[in-house]
Amino acid sequence: MTEPRVNTVCIIGTGLIGGSLALALRQSGFCQTITGAGRTESTLQQAVELGVIDRYSSSIAEAASDADIIVVSVPLGAMRAVFEQIEQGKTDNTVVTDAGSAKQSVIRDAEAVFGIGFHGFVAGHPIAGTEKSGVTAAFAELYQQRRVILTPTQNSSTEAVGLVRSMWEAAGAEVELMDAAHHDLVLAGTSHLPHLLAFGLVDCLNNMEDVDEIFRFAAGGFRDFTRIASSDPVMWRDICLHNREEVMGMMKRYRDEMDDIYQALEDKDGEKLKQIFTKAKKARDAFCG
Ligand code: NAP
Repeated sequence: MTEPRVNTVCIIGTGLIGGSLALALRQSGFCQTITGAGRTESTLQQAVELGVIDRYSSSIAEAASDADIIVVSVPLGAMRAVFEQIEQGKTDNTVVTDAGSAKQSVIRDAEAVFGIGFHGFVAGHPIAGTEKSGVTAAFAELYQQRRVILTPTQNSSTEAVGLVRSMWEAAGAEVELMDAAHHDLVLAGTSHLPHLLAFGLVDCLNNMEDVDEIFRFAAGGFRDFTRIASSDPVMWRDICLHNREEVMGMMKRYRDEMDDIYQALEDKDGEKLKQIFTKAKKARDAFCG
């Protein structure tokens, strides 16, 4: 094992995403100590008992004060309040990053709290996850060969970007840099819209009168399509609200597509349906290998 790159990584929010990063960093030897802080003392205690973090502090400011890198992995709606507490403890040399699923809102929050004179903030988003939440769902292999997108701004120093990149690489991920606005547009299409479709479909069927009978006949396709509707509602509420414009834009495009399919059905236009399905199958087969 190589020398640790830094002394202390502090994870604020030791749930699925933060806890998995902690486990992966521990295995890699990237840092000497992993500390934690967050909202609920009992789950932080559980993170220590599970060997995810070495110790925790009940004060985010205190945890921030001796960390070389702080990773904020809380729901998007809680980011700003957490940044305000970090601001009370961090130094000018601390590097702060996050794992939130939308990037422009996090950058706005960070700049509002830390100021544009702070060069240690680098926004990030691991493109990895499951529909499960909490520290008990965390596992060290989550980021193996998965992409992590960093969206540094002109305020982010090269050193801070390099350090955050090496942290995620130590966790097994491939790191790419991207503009935050482009990230939010792309993820609205590939992640946020699919979650809304899954939540919407299950809610729609659940509102029907003979719902038990309907779900009784739900087979593999329904389970595949709706697995992500078991994701955390608070996290997804926050993602929708913090990437609202881009998500609404994607919903509009999808609605137009559904209108085309609806029209083809109304017209009994089998050729049109086959055309759409063939094009989609070709695209999906190519993307997913
Ligand atoms: P999670 O398993 O529910 O963990 C969230 C953590 O944040 C928990 O430790 C929770 O502590 C803490 N927390 C919640 N509200 C807080 C608050 N107001 N102040 C301080 N701490 C708070 O969620 P997750 O899946 O790890 O998601 C964390 C972040 O990663 C989110 O921003 C999400 O958008 C992003 N993300 C998620 C995925 C995914 O697939 N799940 C993928 C990529 C990125 P408690 O013990 O108090 O609940």
